[in-house]
Amino acid sequence: MISLADPVLGEDEKEALCSVIAGGWLTMGERVAAFERAFAELHGVEAAAAVNSCTAGLHLCLAALGIGAGDEVLVPSLTFVATVNAILYVGAEPVFVDIEGLGVPHISPADAEARCGPRARAVIVMHYGGYLVDLPEWRSFADAHGLKLIEDAAHAPAVGEVGRLSDASAFSFFTNKNMTTAEGGMVLAGQSSVLETMRGMRSHGMSTGTLDRHRGHAFSYDVGMLGFNYRMDELRAAMGTVQLARLPEWNARRRELSSLYRRLFSERLPRVCVPFADEHKTSAHLMPVLLPEGIDRGRVMARMRDAGIQTSIHYPPVHRFSFYRRRFPDLSLPNTENFCSRELTLPLHPSLSAENVDSVVEALGKLL
Ligand SMILES: *Cc1c(COP(=O)(O)O)cnc(C)c1O
Repeated sequence: MISLADPVLGEDEKEALCSVIAGGWLTMGERVAAFERAFAELHGVEAAAAVNSCTAGLHLCLAALGIGAGDEVLVPSLTFVATVNAILYVGAEPVFVDIEGLGVPHISPADAEARCGPRARAVIVMHYGGYLVDLPEWRSFADAHGLKLIEDAAHAPAVGEVGRLSDASAFSFFTNKNMTTAEGGMVLAGQSSVLETMRGMRSHGMSTGTLDRHRGHAFSYDVGMLGFNYRMDELRAAMGTVQLARLPEWNARRRELSSLYRRLFSERLPRVCVPFADEHKTSAHLMPVLLPEGIDRGRVMARMRDAGIQTSIHYPPVHRFSFYRRRFPDLSLPNTENFCSRELTLPLHPSLSAENVDSVVEALGKLL
């Protein structure tokens, strides 16, 4: 079976986990602090805060930036549902924005402009497949409209200026992402005060940490804000530090394999379109392609599975899920709907071989 996404796990991860068990301190200790420092350094920022998922991280980004009831947040519908759910967690209203087009399936600046009303307070951009949105352009857009800029960077760790130009960003270490802690996430912020607020909010809004109290550095605490339990534990942080060290190498391998896919499709199967240009800045999280119009995608996926190749769809558009359809019954986003009806995600992970890529393209070509 050629699987869609495979985490790379080995002896180093085992050792890291065992050392936490041997040490006896299990959550929010020195390993979390070390993981945060390493993540911040790799992204060229001063500090980072580890959380237990990217979803929790997105919630904290919105909450710490003061987004709430009565506010609107511009967001793509071509994303994982968590991006949009987080807007509802803080009581704000999502405003779905179409994508630019089939070749660049990113949130469209022109459509965002058209839908940006007087209640808009923030825009969440999502680096689809790891391909970075134009962050300088979105920074200007946000500034021109008085919006906070938030990045859903679940697909795009350690690439370009990710996390450096926005007001806040959230990363994911879920099992199928470019690096994993099984479950986990990280947040960055443009201002240190926002990051400090997120640190407070991830642990019930308490003013001192568990380790400080354990060590007798603090005997009491205040609760100065509404918080949650979004903490990361030491096991995940220890594993995360090991994974992070290999992330640049894995991202590079993913880029090589993506370029190979692109070359093979243009040589052998030009009817299959590959979004974005080969030189686009990317962590190459996904390998999305667009099937020719009129192809029964369900049948293609079933036959690929029979041929031992796992495929997927990224994503069913969020505004078409029944929960969101009830809220936005008449909304139509033609580019998003067209893209999502033809998109097929092919296997891509660092352990894939060039031969694997060749057989995926060969199998798809035969089926088409
Ligand atoms: C995976 C993912 C999330 C959620 O990440 P978790 O860490 O599982 O909460 C959010 N947004 C996007 C785009 C994702 O791919």
